[in-house]
Amino acid sequence: MAAEITLLQKHEEFISRLRANGVRILRYQVPCCGKELEDRAANKGEVWDTLATCPHCKALYLKISKSSEIVAMLAEVS
Ligand SMILES: [Zn+2]
Repeated sequence: MAAEITLLQKHEEFISRLRANGVRILRYQVPCCGKELEDRAANKGEVWDTLATCPHCKALYLKISKSSEIVAMLAEVS
């Protein structure tokens, strides 16, 4: 059976490519399963909010990236 490329592998490849390009990387904790992820820091003075899918448990969460930190919260409305 062909090896399936998981979302987590894609995420890790993406991060290592950013890091190889000298992009600043921050660590943060996802709200869904508590795992630590890495992503790029926002440019200074900017705030980026995006919906992201957790590569560990596939939950949808809201990610708010700043230049100094990344905060993630669950996106579901209950
Ligand atoms: Zn998760």
